[in-house]
Amino acid sequence: MTFEDFTLCPALQRGVADHGYTTPTPVQREAIPPALAGRDLIASAQTGTGKTAAFLLPALERLQTQKPVRRSAPRVLVLTPTRELASQILVEGKAYGRHARVAQGCIVGGVSFGPQLNLLGQRIDLLVATPGRLIDHLERQTVRLDQVELLVLDEADRMLDMGFIHAVTRIVAKCPRERQTLMFTATWDDRLAKLAREMLRDPIRISIAPSAATAALIEHRVHLADDGAHKDKLLRHLLTNVAGQSLVFTKTKRRAKKLAEQLERQGYDVDSLHGDMKQSARNRTLDALKRNQLRIVVATDVAARGIDVPELALVINFDLPHVPEDYVHRTGRTGRAGATGTAVSLVSLDDRPLLAAIEKFTGKTIERHAIPGLEPVIIDLPAGHRAKPQPTRQPKRPQRGGRPQGKSAPRASGGERHGERVATPVGVDDHRPAFLMRKTGAR
Ligand code: AMP
Repeated sequence: MTFEDFTLCPALQRGVADHGYTTPTPVQREAIPPALAGRDLIASAQTGTGKTAAFLLPALERLQTQKPVRRSAPRVLVLTPTRELASQILVEGKAYGRHARVAQGCIVGGVSFGPQLNLLGQRIDLLVATPGRLIDHLERQTVRLDQVELLVLDEADRMLDMGFIHAVTRIVAKCPRERQTLMFTATWDDRLAKLAREMLRDPIRISIAPSAATAALIEHRVHLADDGAHKDKLLRHLLTNVAGQSLVFTKTKRRAKKLAEQLERQGYDVDSLHGDMKQSARNRTLDALKRNQLRIVVATDVAARGIDVPELALVINFDLPHVPEDYVHRTGRTGRAGATGTAVSLVSLDDRPLLAAIEKFTGKTIERHAIPGLEPVIIDLPAGHRAKPQPTRQPKRPQRGGRPQGKSAPRASGGERHGERVATPVGVDDHRPAFLMRKTGAR
């Protein structure tokens, strides 16, 4: 199947071809025909599957080929959770629509109102917005949604996770009841089912398995780490030995900032991306990353949403995410649409429950890797594996973290419990063995 099999107008066909796409991705194959036919749709598709084009192309087709009743207000509204995602959608929309006569714009928080008021004062057919700022404009009566023919809820699960449910409900209430609605979400639960019942009419359901398409192009790895200092060393090794650009995730804004500063002092070409930064600074960092003028970005989850950098070779979870879905979102930043990428998680003992939750969520055991010279002191073995007694191995980094060997140290070296083998007990907390039972290399 090619894009020519869709009944898209010549202007959009040219836009897609100019962009270098030839074959539609699975979500595009399944979503575009019913969306073009005017049906409501719920698509369960992860980021990285090509979902943006799956809703933008039918939206642009409508705007290009169907005459408006009045041209005074947006006819397509795309709601998306973050500013970065909104800008990315606009960039894609402008690329596909470059030969079409469609006015597109984006309004997001964190930037001044002035330019947005100018934008909203002009003709605008397709509006991409984040919920918070759109509510501000609705309250100031600087935007009208009564001409919306097509509403897209992009990353609906994430909008709910970010607490936008009331904003979304209020926005949708301002749109005409008679409209088409497309909902895209990576996950599905009762909250989304309720939202869908309230906002969609007889929707077609499409589910694109995470393993489909691009997910297979990401190599997932776990590096076990004994403590923070070990993580630092692993991180430096990984960053030094990758050819392309890297994105490193931390769990807090402070840690992102601190880690970026630390890496910068060590001579790496690095910047951070987090919610405490002004929007203009965030845009600068993103721009530098996209232009390949920056090799490493240390980011938090929210700030990293919507990053789409074709060259991104490596995603590193310096801290594992607390929400397993975020693992999929984070690692979806690499291995995008045909490119291959690596996703590495640095996992300390404390992180093991989070790793277990991620493996349960994705249904896959992530392969454990070790870097020669930087092996962890603690090793894990396949569940049920009967380890042969081994000679005591001296740790490569005997002083790293944890308690010193002594009366409070865990059991003797070479001991095995629950399929876990503790090579040498330096730095091992004896009371947290259970999650070392994971199978290794089962993928
Ligand atoms: P998305 O899931 O929309 O964020 O898209 C992920 C990446 O896939 C983006 O870099 C898109 O530009 C790219 N992409 C989308 N559709 C296609 C396609 N049919 N062929 C090649 N790349 C695509």
